[in-house]
Amino acid sequence: MGSKGREIVGKDVEKIITLLNQAYASEWLAYYQYWLGAKLIKGPMKNAVAAELDLHATEELNHATLLANRIVQLGGTPVLSPDGWNALSPCKYDAPEDPYVAVLLDQNIAGERCAIATYKALMDATKDKDMVTYNMALTILEQEVEHEEDLQSLREDLDLMVERGRK
Ligand code: FE
Ligand code: FE
Ligand code: MG
Repeated sequence: MGSKGREIVGKDVEKIITLLNQAYASEWLAYYQYWLGAKLIKGPMKNAVAAELDLHATEELNHATLLANRIVQLGGTPVLSPDGWNALSPCKYDAPEDPYVAVLLDQNIAGERCAIATYKALMDATKDKDMVTYNMALTILEQEVEHEEDLQSLREDLDLMVERGRK
C-alpha cells in the first residue's frame, strides 16, 4: 500500500476496495468459463469461436491482474480463496454443460453484459474521487464492450450459416 496514494481516494476507499473485489471475483469466473468452453465446444464454426473464447480468457485473466494490483495498492486484500469467487461475484458462473456453439456464445454474451454493467458502476462510484481506479475501469470496460460485440457478431454469423444451410 502507498499511504498518499490511498489518502487521495478519501473516505470511500473501503467501499471501492469491495467493488474492486467483486469485479475481481467475476473475472476469475469469466476466465474459467471461457477457458473451459474453448476446450469443450462443438458445432459449426467451432474453431473460429474457440480461438475467440481462448483470447477472451487471456484478457479476463489480465483484468484480474489489473484489479488485484489496484486492490493491493489501496491497502486491500484480493479475495483469498476460490470459494469467494462465487460468493462475491455480481456476475454468475454459467457452467458449459451444453457445449453447442450457440449455447456457449449466449452464455458468454450474458457474462459480458454483466461485466459491462459492473465496470459502468465502478466508474460511477469512482468518478471525481479515485482517478486511478476510474481510468483502469475505463480501460477494462473498453475491452468488455469489444468482447460483447465480438461474440454477438459470431452469433449472427452462426445464425446466417445455419439459416442458409437450410435452403
Ligand atoms: Fe473482464
Ligand atoms: Fe470480457
Ligand atoms: Mg475478442
